[in-house]
Amino acid sequence: MFVYKINVLQELKGNIRVFCRVRPLLSNESGAVSYPNNGENIGRGVELMHNTQSYSFAFDKVFDHSASQEDVFTEISQLVQSALDGYKVCIFAYGQTGSGKTHTMMGNPEFNDQKGLIPRSLEQIFQTSQCLMSQGWKYKMQASMLEIYNETIRDLLATSRTSIQDGAASKYNIKHDANGNTQVSDLTIVDVRSINEVSSLLKRAAQSRSVGKTQMNEESSRSHCVFTLRIFGVNEGTDQQVQGVLNLIDLAGSERLNKSGATGDRLKETQAINKSLSCLSDVIFSIAKKEEHIPFRNSKLTYLLQVTS
Ligand code: ADP
Ligand code: MG
Repeated sequence: MFVYKINVLQELKGNIRVFCRVRPLLSNESGAVSYPNNGENIGRGVELMHNTQSYSFAFDKVFDHSASQEDVFTEISQLVQSALDGYKVCIFAYGQTGSGKTHTMMGNPEFNDQKGLIPRSLEQIFQTSQCLMSQGWKYKMQASMLEIYNETIRDLLATSRTSIQDGAASKYNIKHDANGNTQVSDLTIVDVRSINEVSSLLKRAAQSRSVGKTQMNEESSRSHCVFTLRIFGVNEGTDQQVQGVLNLIDLAGSERLNKSGATGDRLKETQAINKSLSCLSDVIFSIAKKEEHIPFRNSKLTYLLQVTS
């Protein structure tokens, strides 16, 4: 999981964090994962055994297979808070198909212990914004959810009829205005005013993704899914205004396709995924190295998430 945000406090520590979550083994899987229990990598390291060879990795934090959805959320809840404070926050789930990205990001919003980061973030934002009302803050929240498949945007909140007609989807143009706000033309934007509205929104999005699964045979694991919550806050008492954005991104599966097997559409699909994931890593590295030029324009996903500040 990648986390980055633009925030002075965080910049002191480096504004990009990488966490690793290990999911439990499925019944047909075997493997040996262990965690260092001494030394500097406690809580940050993971060791994998493969063909009697051991491989060590270190991250900013490692969640082992017993970590709950709540444990993971606790770690990122501060970032979610910064979106309410007017920052632009992006959280990415990266990994092979089946590694637990969708479980981590969305989970099952209908069961309390299985809710993922998206429903938990929304709940926290609502609760906090309600508390801040007593200090004179009024918030407006707008949500959108889209998929990027083969460099083409698909609106996940469009009513089913329009989304099918929009198959070509050539109309979803990404624009950044002078104030650094990003807009995608014709994208469905939903005003969310209550927790109830949030849950119906998530159901709607889940439905369009599952329709996608059967109709477009597993495209969902071959596309990036971007959930965006825009937060506008005004405090009439103090005349302050904030605009924050929270982007939660379930990336396409990072597996390399069998070199021999891929032809035609599958090959094109794989090339699009590989290219956009490598564009994303270029952008993240350029940000980390504080380079002057960040190559946001090289893919739809990075262009969509571009920050101008
Ligand atoms: P991905 O989106 O990366 O392809 P999924 O999130 O769909 O992977 O996870 C694959 C399977 O593993 C699903 O059945 C999911 O419920 C299960 N799973 C993933 N992570 C966990 C976890 N931490 N605990 C329990 N089950 C998990
Ligand atoms: Mg998935």
